[in-house]
Amino acid sequence: MRILFLDQSGKPGGAELCLIDIAKPYCNHALVGLFADGTFKDLLQQNHIPVEVLATQAIQVSKESTLAQGLKSLVKLAPLITKVVKKAREYDLIYANTQKALVVGAIASFFSRRPLVYHLHDILSKEHFSQTNVRIAVNLANGFASLVIANSQASKTAFVQAGGRKDIVEVVYNGFEPKNYQTDESDINKLQQDLGLEGKFVVGHFSRLAPWKGQHILIDALSKCPPQVTAILVGDALFGEQDYVEQLHQQVAKLGLENRVKFLGFRSDIPQLMTACDLVTHTSTSPEPFGRVIVEAMLCGKPVVAAKAGGAMELVEHGLNGFLVTPGEPQELAQVITTCLQETEITATIANNARTTASKRFNVATINQQIAQLLCNRLSLPA
Ligand code: UDP
Repeated sequence: MRILFLDQSGKPGGAELCLIDIAKPYCNHALVGLFADGTFKDLLQQNHIPVEVLATQAIQVSKESTLAQGLKSLVKLAPLITKVVKKAREYDLIYANTQKALVVGAIASFFSRRPLVYHLHDILSKEHFSQTNVRIAVNLANGFASLVIANSQASKTAFVQAGGRKDIVEVVYNGFEPKNYQTDESDINKLQQDLGLEGKFVVGHFSRLAPWKGQHILIDALSKCPPQVTAILVGDALFGEQDYVEQLHQQVAKLGLENRVKFLGFRSDIPQLMTACDLVTHTSTSPEPFGRVIVEAMLCGKPVVAAKAGGAMELVEHGLNGFLVTPGEPQELAQVITTCLQETEITATIANNARTTASKRFNVATINQQIAQLLCNRLSLPA
């Protein structure tokens, strides 16, 4: 099956990292068309997935854009759409991985007469998007997509609640290769030494720096934890959230936590860094569509504390394979962190359970099979 994947981002967020795993099995007959240059292109190349940057200028539509702004940028999109229509004729289907890719992909699907698949990595609600954006995404998916793959039940429910067609949407979780999360003990010891983490109880947070990812909740919680609890914040402001980064640094200084919080920026050694932690926290203040970091922590055998909303509730069963806390409540988070610090045996059992179940439930081979079957059955295309 020849697939033209489309993604708007030049930077590797969760949706882009997921796309690498989806595109790999098709890499001999596929192309990933990007609407921006950047490190995501490098990652695709490292994985031997053909990639081309198709847009010459950035698309100026944000999650809060109005209809007028959206229409204005549509005119500017004409050269990109023309290019995608031409490319699409060389492939059996168009696979849009992001919302702007859906806009371009829908129009290209119409003109090239190729079926469209939309991979929905978002919760289409007013907490995350303007009403205009939600309406555009839902109407385009309803009108042009043969299949919508939602990354969680939560994303599917929001899609249907916003008017999305129930008959075209299927839930497929992100897939992971468990082997990638098995690390060498000597590497971890060296990493802990290099980062000055020895003898500390290390809480990790792995997310791009953005207000709704809630790094400020963890910093607040830390000030309520015993002094040996230290945090590493892994991730960067990928989409221009510089003010938030500044606020986080000010918060750390105000609480006198300079020696207990380390900002590590964007890293590509996530399995090693997670393994170097005693606990991983997820603190999103708005419902998380899926939460790759939660599964990754489980695969590293680390206890995970997640914010109880959205897709995270499908991944974590409180007290069985992790812990759930009320979003935006630092006091509750501090309590759970402190309990994990004190109750080491039960916490380790929970983390081990999580590793075993996550290795099966989110195995990339099984997930890719589910996607292949959906593409064949729903689109009547050759395998
Ligand atoms: N990640 C990374 N380097 C970093 C921070 C995060 O590679 O410095 C990865 C992380 O391991 C995860 C992804 O980025 O695979 C984030 O996905 P998630 O679903 O948690 O959030 P999203 O970015 O999609 O909102």
